[in-house]
Amino acid sequence: MSAEAIRPQRHLIDACVHCGFCLPACPTYQLSANEAESPRGRIDLMRRHADGVLPLDADFVAHIDSCLGCMACVRACPSGVDYESLIVEARAMIQTSFVRPASQRLVRKAIFAIMPYPRRMRPLVVLGGLAKRMVGSRVADAKPAGSGVAAALASALALLPPRAQKSHPAGGRLYASSGPKRGTVGLMTGCVASVIFSSTQKAAIDVLRAEGFDVLVPGGQGCCGALAEHAGEAGLAGRMAKALVGTLSREKVDTWITTSAGCGSTLKSYSRLLPDDARAAQFSARVLDIHEFLYQQGLRAEYRPLDLRVAYHPACHLANAQGIVDEPLALLRSIPGCEILTPAQAGTCCGSAGIYNLVEPATAERLGVAKAASIAELGADVVAAGNPGCLLQISRYSGPGLESAHPVELLARSLRAVSG
Ligand code: SF4
Ligand code: SF4
Repeated sequence: MSAEAIRPQRHLIDACVHCGFCLPACPTYQLSANEAESPRGRIDLMRRHADGVLPLDADFVAHIDSCLGCMACVRACPSGVDYESLIVEARAMIQTSFVRPASQRLVRKAIFAIMPYPRRMRPLVVLGGLAKRMVGSRVADAKPAGSGVAAALASALALLPPRAQKSHPAGGRLYASSGPKRGTVGLMTGCVASVIFSSTQKAAIDVLRAEGFDVLVPGGQGCCGALAEHAGEAGLAGRMAKALVGTLSREKVDTWITTSAGCGSTLKSYSRLLPDDARAAQFSARVLDIHEFLYQQGLRAEYRPLDLRVAYHPACHLANAQGIVDEPLALLRSIPGCEILTPAQAGTCCGSAGIYNLVEPATAERLGVAKAASIAELGADVVAAGNPGCLLQISRYSGPGLESAHPVELLARSLRAVSG
């Protein structure tokens, strides 16, 4: 993709009528009270750059970088402004046309050389967990400063779980339904999620099987490109999307399921990354987040009581980017005995936001601390969220007293209580 091809599209910019209804919903505007840190302000920066009156300089880049990509503004906007495409295109323009300081280039290079590749990520997670256990609270208490290499490393260490998960669902395998068969689905395992959240994927297999679905977990799956797309690495994201579509399109399944909200929003929008690829569009049309799939199909298995107080955090890429709001709550409420709690300011981003908590650690920390405090007030046993990044971020700022789990893990636990 040439640099000329990547820039925010004018008709998307012009859809904004400057009404400002999005401002109260925007976390970075709420923190800064600075118009340039709001959706309207960022769109205006894009407009002035497109008009040739604002250079693509460090100031412009800082305001675009500080956006969480949480899409709270999209939900709040009465004019239907496609802010998601605008921010993705603005970031892609920056990556192709702006030379970042060396420390930022190094951090981003390291992130995209490691995180999308489970074989590289896994040993580092083990080593990071070991280091964390050795230095203990010194890592947990580390305060990130700036956005350089040291701050990114400190954030990465603090976010890692102390122990890597030991077993992973075997790829290249069909897990047969354990009840009357209702269909065949494919489970996408992703990159970071396959290393750090294999327990979520095993739980998804257990629940889907109990609900009557054969679950295919193809081997050789790669990263879906979501992390790269959200950070403006459009070329890398496009190559990853193309490879994944090539691998998965060979399989015969009714639906592709993801347990990661961040991945789901990109997987459903492959036409943005691969605009001329009909096979990618067909693939995207068959992708569903596990919450919406289970909700649409209806639960039939027997779920036994769990005596838990569960605080539900609506992940931005589930609620705002995909409009999946009621489905996770309905699934959690179907577990007898679970009390579902809603934190104050539930719709505000927790500060995870893809690689945001690595490259913008100071803002991410303010949001993470506030989110953890709003959950602590509830006295919950568990915080549930449908996105791996949110679970890591909230755990980091909540400490070890609060369990974190994907809703499907609680469903699986309830199922096990049936047979236990
Ligand atoms: S995506 Fe989130 S942080 Fe960015 S402008 Fe919209 S509301 Fe603000
Ligand atoms: S709510 Fe929509 S139209 Fe109004 S300022 Fe925000 S982005 Fe623009």
